[in-house]
Amino acid sequence: MARKTLIAGNWKMNGLKKDAKALAGGLARKMAALRKKGGRANFEMLICPPFPLLGLAAEAVKGSGIRVGAQDCHAEASGAHTGDTSAQLIKNAGASYAIVGHSERRTDHAETDREIKAKAEAALAAGLKVIVCIGETLKERKAGQTLNVNRKQLRGSLPAGATAANTVIAYEPVWAIGTGQVATPEQAQEVHAAIRKALKSKLGPAEAGKMRILYGGSMKPGNADELLSQPDIDGGLIGGASLTVKDFWGIAEAV
Ligand code: PEP
Repeated sequence: MARKTLIAGNWKMNGLKKDAKALAGGLARKMAALRKKGGRANFEMLICPPFPLLGLAAEAVKGSGIRVGAQDCHAEASGAHTGDTSAQLIKNAGASYAIVGHSERRTDHAETDREIKAKAEAALAAGLKVIVCIGETLKERKAGQTLNVNRKQLRGSLPAGATAANTVIAYEPVWAIGTGQVATPEQAQEVHAAIRKALKSKLGPAEAGKMRILYGGSMKPGNADELLSQPDIDGGLIGGASLTVKDFWGIAEAV
């Protein structure tokens, strides 16, 4: 089943206005150059800057086809939630995606599957697409719990109303994030296949067959090809290597 590869960059808490302008603008120019040569991107590209840079990034990629997303959102539409950002405001700033449940949010902010599900539902209600992150720790992998942990997180955080058109899953083994220790293509494929099987029983074979499952964890231009050629890996959620045009575009070129 054809699934358009999604190359998504998670900038985390990096960059100032000038960096965002240079990075988003540089990627937009790469897209324009590709078109000028008569090419058409066979992938979808997404950049997820910190909240205050969303509008600026959206402006910098306007007309290029590159999408902009947030790294989190609040579960409520508005109200007394100091320091938080609603999905509606994210959409209003020019974004079309929100990541929820990243392992750094699960750890730093003690986010539970239940909260992540509520955030994902708020994102969908605001008209955003959502990327739901799941993944096991090294301890869980060593204990042979990898598939169980991922299935449990998926069950707990998948939003009601999830479809292949509005929801993307990101499998991000926690031990591979920012460590340089990438999962082997076989390790990643095993989990992706288990996720797709779990999606099948939850959403039915048609929706599960169309839903994109991204791999995240130390993906780089040098290892992207092998990972992206696995049958159930439909793109990447990329941290460190999304911070330069050369590396991020290099990953896209592997598609
Ligand atoms: C991430 O933060 O989602 C991530 C995968 O980071 P890195 O690519 O740096 O491992």
